[in-house]
Amino acid sequence: MHYRKRFGVEPGSKVDLSKVDAGFKDQHETHQDALAEIEAHNQKMHDLQYLMYAEDRRSLLIVLQGRDAAGKDGTINHVLGAMNPQGCSVTGFKVPSKEEAAHDFLWRYHKHTPGKGQVAIFNRSHYEDVLVVRVHDLMPKSIWSKRYNHINDFEQMLSENGTHILKFYLHIDADEQLRRFKQRIDDPARHWKISEGDYAERPYWDAYTKAFEAALSKCSTEHAPWFIIPSNHKWFRNLAVSKIVTETLESLHMKFPEPTVDIDQIRAKYDAIVNRTGDSDEGMS
Ligand code: AMP
Ligand code: MG
Repeated sequence: MHYRKRFGVEPGSKVDLSKVDAGFKDQHETHQDALAEIEAHNQKMHDLQYLMYAEDRRSLLIVLQGRDAAGKDGTINHVLGAMNPQGCSVTGFKVPSKEEAAHDFLWRYHKHTPGKGQVAIFNRSHYEDVLVVRVHDLMPKSIWSKRYNHINDFEQMLSENGTHILKFYLHIDADEQLRRFKQRIDDPARHWKISEGDYAERPYWDAYTKAFEAALSKCSTEHAPWFIIPSNHKWFRNLAVSKIVTETLESLHMKFPEPTVDIDQIRAKYDAIVNRTGDSDEGMS
């Protein structure tokens, strides 16, 4: 099954998150069953990212959004773990600084978008400006309601500049969030992840649902699609994201660039050195 189609939000459709099963895991029962497939996709993702870096013509922007404890950090660890750090960047977006808040809302995001050959991952993103801002009335509706169009225009511009955009909403249900909060309390190695904010946001669950549904419905486009990833099972979330990244990179039909040198001439130079000195790799060792 093509996961791009299975989990992609059809442009123009209206998203109802209550209809999406956050516990979905497709044909695999357990993480163990899925390991071989996950490994195969990671290998492909690695090779394709290498090709993108070598080709140096276009780029990939991966946007991660989700509620607290939805697994944004875990997804980054998984996806990046399969890539060469040299071609990647990760940027997390928190409450805007004074300087950021003094600019238009897209200013702070634009400068972290990927350059040619690069993969950039956004841990939270320009969508916060129609999520937390909308839920908590940080700006009047007359301002945030115009941002969906601003976002679509911004993403279209990036796309026309050679950036492929994939946006993942990591979908967990309320019970799973509570289970993860409990894990964080019970495991001292996770205490550092606990924030007051997690508990402050929880009563706004339904308001966030509406805000996510609006963003997913208004801003899923051909060139910058949203995907709703069932994320109660971390391994399935990882599998789905790497499958979609892989399917997308494959669809670009990238090629290694033509060599900048004449390979026959270079081979002749190499042979001349070896013949003159009698050196070879073996000879040197
Ligand atoms: P975390 O990702 O857990 O470190 O939390 C970052 C916090 O920054 C979250 O509570 C976000 O809602 C908040 N945040 C991110 N972007 C914005 C924004 N544009 N305006 C207000 N709050 C934001
Ligand atoms: Mg957090």
